[in-house]
Amino acid sequence: MLTSQMIKEAALAAGADKCGIAPMSRFNGAPDEMNPQKLFPEAKSCIGFVFRIPRGVQRGIEEGTQFFQYPSMAYGGINEIFAPAVLYQVGKVIEDEGYEAFVYRNTGARGVVSDMDGAPGNTLSPEEQIEVTKHAKTATAHHRSVQFTRPTREGNTAPDLQFQFRLAAVACGLGEIGWSKMLLTPEFGPLQRVAFLFTDAELEYDEMYSGEPLCRKCGACVRECPGGCIPDLKSDKKITVNLDGKICEWADIDMWRCYAFYTHAGRYQNPFVPKEIWDKNEDGMLDLMEGVTDEANEQEILKVYNALAKYFPSWIGYNMAKCGGCIRGCVSVLEKKGGCMENRFHEPLRTQRPWKLDR
Ligand code: SF4
Ligand code: SF4
Repeated sequence: MLTSQMIKEAALAAGADKCGIAPMSRFNGAPDEMNPQKLFPEAKSCIGFVFRIPRGVQRGIEEGTQFFQYPSMAYGGINEIFAPAVLYQVGKVIEDEGYEAFVYRNTGARGVVSDMDGAPGNTLSPEEQIEVTKHAKTATAHHRSVQFTRPTREGNTAPDLQFQFRLAAVACGLGEIGWSKMLLTPEFGPLQRVAFLFTDAELEYDEMYSGEPLCRKCGACVRECPGGCIPDLKSDKKITVNLDGKICEWADIDMWRCYAFYTHAGRYQNPFVPKEIWDKNEDGMLDLMEGVTDEANEQEILKVYNALAKYFPSWIGYNMAKCGGCIRGCVSVLEKKGGCMENRFHEPLRTQRPWKLDR
């Protein structure tokens, strides 16, 4: 007989760092276009997997010496290699017992609404759009949403159905969402990515996390964001969700702004772009990054990407993160002031003041 314990043992043996299981009823009330209950009607259980981000992949950015490892290992590596391999192995254990394993790896930009801002319809994906305009053999642009989708039968949600990964992780008892919108877990703080599997097997379920709040509401993520993308803790710009009785609350982050700063970091945090480029701000291409405009939208971001893409000529299918400010600020606080990462490492992530270019 298939049990939760069998699934968790298989998950850890295959390389997951943590596994939690929720009944599908925890998603009652979610909007249809983001409700995993709509994936298939017989689904009874949602299995969530945590994959830790090694702290060391942030070391190069923390020191200002190496920027490639974080996006390639923590985003590309986990999303494309480590997590799918675990889903595959655990799926086999479930299907050997006669139940279905609907694996769901991390995938962005496939829903009916934009995964950037929830807007329906035609929202561009700037970095891929640049690939199209400059190199591609086709004229088809990539988008943050599917454009012409429709329900395949009455009662269905139009494909591809995407759900909120971090809330699903909370539903599986894996952690809580911090002010920075990152998933925080007791074991790894903000350092993980997640993947899911849905099955028609009925299992034993984990409670949602109910210990000391994992987010210390310290504001380090707000202070250390180079783009000012995360509203202040006292701001009423926040999002509140009632997840089957558990109140989850996080800052209403300016996601388009983060899209620009996360990848290009800005004048003081991006050592790859010469000072003159920022000073010149040719054709206003860097208006958003330089604070000339506060209007963060896909047009402004496309300008930034076009202006700066060539200064870090590596490409792994993922944005080449250069900021990591919120995640490193969070780790640093949780290690030093107590909280979920206390005592995990012999030495703290941060041993000196964060660097900032003098220009
Ligand atoms: S990823 Fe970077 S730009 Fe985005 S919110 Fe975090 S610190 Fe700010
Ligand atoms: S940096 Fe502080 S406020 Fe921000 S998510 Fe982490 S613990 Fe919460």
